[in-house]
Amino acid sequence: MGFQLSEIKLFSLSRHRQMLLSRIKMRVLLGLPEQLKKVFFYGKNCYCPVCESHIREYERFGHIARLWCPVCASMRWQRFAWLFLQHHTNLFDGMPKKMLHIAPEIAFEPRLKQVANLDYLTGDLFNPQVMVKVDITDMPFPNHSFDAIFCSHVMEHVPDDRKALSELMRVLSSGGWAIFLVPIRMNKRTDEDLGVTDSKERERRFGQHDHVRFYGWDFEERLRDAGFQVTVVRASDVIDANQFDRVGITKDEVLFYCQNNLTDSSELPTPSLSISYPNPATPFPNI
Ligand SMILES: [Zn+2]
Repeated sequence: MGFQLSEIKLFSLSRHRQMLLSRIKMRVLLGLPEQLKKVFFYGKNCYCPVCESHIREYERFGHIARLWCPVCASMRWQRFAWLFLQHHTNLFDGMPKKMLHIAPEIAFEPRLKQVANLDYLTGDLFNPQVMVKVDITDMPFPNHSFDAIFCSHVMEHVPDDRKALSELMRVLSSGGWAIFLVPIRMNKRTDEDLGVTDSKERERRFGQHDHVRFYGWDFEERLRDAGFQVTVVRASDVIDANQFDRVGITKDEVLFYCQNNLTDSSELPTPSLSISYPNPATPFPNI
């Protein structure tokens, strides 16, 4: 017995309604002080490493359960990236460095602005709230301008992603690093067709109406082609399996830690990060 057409429509409506309600709830909560939300959502089941809140549970987004933090609105892949930034990069070591944050996450931006000695710049092509309007395929920065770049869930929107990646490589200092996250299916090759412009077809094939591709395992090749030295980091590399539920992260999350280790210039410093990562023996912090 299959679905009737009317049932499918109802399901679809319900799904869009759920998404809309989630967006409204997120927007309302984002307008409230974090201290108030920490009290209201307090619980012992979960801990958000971004806002350091103990909460009862993560919030549903549309049909996706346990996705975002009710206090800081971090998504699960953002919590994974934050833990990686905290424990496996030099971002918080207090040494002076310049960071470029493309399409800044709401949960990250206020916290990164407060990091000691971090010369922090946000950029986006469309968001008027950022510090610099920037087209990542043609950026107005000199070579080797930044020691750290964070770029999450951007590349799947960019038609010429290879140009964007080579630009990001160009502005990264030698010894610097960039972190990329994209919606990805690691068991498939990238599905890309710039000829697909219909929003429904894009949603069906690439996962969202404004995505131009769905990345697969070969995203790593594109990063290497741009000149990065790439380490693929899975959540299970850095987080104990028994902590996944607590921090609201799934083992399938993947990020790409990309270093610029070119050493063809005499003024370039020794890379400050070991290239021996990942280190599976590194214990997850006791939270
Ligand atoms: Zn949070």
